[in-house]
Amino acid sequence: MAGILEGKVALVTGGASGIGQATAVVMAREGAVVAVADRAEADAAATVALINAAGGQAIAIGGDVTREADVAVMVARTVAAFGRIDCAFNNAGIAPRAVGPAGQRIHELSRDAFDSMLAVNLTGVFLCLKYEVAQMLSQGRGGAIVNTASIAGLIGLATSSHYVAAKHGVVGLTRSAAIEYAQDGIRVNCVNPGYITTPMTKETVEERGDEILAKVPMRRMGVPGEIAEAVAWMCSDKASFMTGAAHVIDGGYCAA
Ligand code: NAD
Repeated sequence: MAGILEGKVALVTGGASGIGQATAVVMAREGAVVAVADRAEADAAATVALINAAGGQAIAIGGDVTREADVAVMVARTVAAFGRIDCAFNNAGIAPRAVGPAGQRIHELSRDAFDSMLAVNLTGVFLCLKYEVAQMLSQGRGGAIVNTASIAGLIGLATSSHYVAAKHGVVGLTRSAAIEYAQDGIRVNCVNPGYITTPMTKETVEERGDEILAKVPMRRMGVPGEIAEAVAWMCSDKASFMTGAAHVIDGGYCAA
């Protein structure tokens, strides 16, 4: 049976680990050829090896989404390898721990930490959108883009204000882009995961796992594949009337 992404070319950022890796693998399983971009290039190559081992086709691209020149190269190399871009998953991101000590309230947060967070989790998404949309417009055949936001893009979380601000920004960018490019056949949505078991959440779960699970009606963490399946669907033609949506997948966290 043909996959839901048969014949599509996909670009996945943050594809070396966690949610991005799982999504690259699912997209390939569903028939897409996949460019796996990440600043951790060796780990992106490992994702490519997984895809190849399953009979799919992929390439690894090293690059940092905070650098405009790197993002331009991610798009250009995808097009050089596969001829165009039909779908993109703008997913590269960092947690609060990557920019400073965990548990800081706003008055304790440094300007540098705030700027570094926004550079990856918001400006990185803007840069990817900018170059992907330009490419899709030049192709004239539409496209589908999914940005990774978070439940932190819809609700506040204490001691993560910079992360929350960036993710709310991703939801806003997604909605504006959806409106701007609807007439061009380019759909732009975001996915809003709750707590998912990945390297990013490992330490937080070790420290506060019980406290977090007490707030999740399903009383468990999600796994990356549970986000990946939805993203692949959102990128497919099955989601043809879906644009500007913030798709929550959180075991009921926001509902509660
Ligand atoms: P992860 O740490 O497993 O993967 C993130 C990937 O992004 C890594 O491979 C990393 O190298 C890459 N990356 C980071 N900064 C980059 C940069 N500047 N340029 C290029 N690549 C970069 O984390 P994950 O949990 O899979 O997170 C993926 C996305 O999902 C992030 O945007 C994160 O904020 C979001 N998210 C995660 C959860 C969760 O519970 N894990 C919940 C909500 C949202």
